[in-house]
Amino acid sequence: MAPNVNNKNPYKTREGGCTCTVFVPYDCNNNCPFCVNKKEYADTSKFSAEKIIESIKTIDEITPLCDFVFTGGEPLANLASLQKMLDAVPTTHKIYINTTFPIQPNISGEEMLAFVEKNKSKITCINISRHIRPFVEESPDELVANIPTKKRVNCVLYRNYDKIDKLYDYVKRWGRYQIPIQFRYDYTETTPENLYDEEHDLILQDLMNHFTYIGLDGCRMRNGFHFKYYMEEIGKWERMTYHKTLPYSTIEEKDPESGITYNILYDILIKQNGDFHSDWDNTPLDIDRYRKVVFEPYDLKFLYKNEKEWLD
Ligand code: SF4
Repeated sequence: MAPNVNNKNPYKTREGGCTCTVFVPYDCNNNCPFCVNKKEYADTSKFSAEKIIESIKTIDEITPLCDFVFTGGEPLANLASLQKMLDAVPTTHKIYINTTFPIQPNISGEEMLAFVEKNKSKITCINISRHIRPFVEESPDELVANIPTKKRVNCVLYRNYDKIDKLYDYVKRWGRYQIPIQFRYDYTETTPENLYDEEHDLILQDLMNHFTYIGLDGCRMRNGFHFKYYMEEIGKWERMTYHKTLPYSTIEEKDPESGITYNILYDILIKQNGDFHSDWDNTPLDIDRYRKVVFEPYDLKFLYKNEKEWLD
């Protein structure tokens, strides 16, 4: 939670409801050095798909239009369980799946593609983690290219990232398949002061110097610097984004008209045992208070747009 937030304040969120991230009740069997979720997957004894499904239904009652994100662990490591959870989400919601699209002994790549094909009317986008230096055994790029839904590759860039020559290789690797790329700043380093800072962000400077900057959208919590680049191999312009987000999902703010101090929620979580949390640091969500959540217009706005480049 953001520093100095009083967890007793009434909740406010954007119209439609904040995003609900669901932690699947089974592990990924990887050990990425930067993983922040791994500890929770060490003891699976209290994990329950049934409790998660009950919690999904509760969130649907309160905000029938919110987005759901399935993450882990590894959502695709247990397709039967994931199917039950996807089936519990009514079609009013958008569903996103964060995955490594893994190599796994008991489920083939073709089975994962068939699963996505079967559920493609439910899934809005699949976000595949692919880092410049791989930490897991990666399934072939062609398999990722064959995912039959909208898809995107996510790549975290740390301050000591592998500099622009490696970025070029990475961009070409996915551009040839026309798969959008989201580079992500290390969120543990993001602060309200550096969220929009352009001058001292060396990654952003590199991207601005080597690719065509076309727009910026953002809100109090996160933003996206949008770029395009020309893929000679296929004769097309492709898009990529540099995304920054604060390391918490609740901001305390006083409403200037009513004088009431609210906790503005951007993400809520359903944990592996079905518990509700209001932030990434184990802060519990008071579900009865959330039933009375106040809505405000979504503050995500275009802050800069180069119309000509954007429309090309
Ligand atoms: S694959 Fe994802 S959940 Fe698994 S260890 Fe790596 S970062 Fe963590």
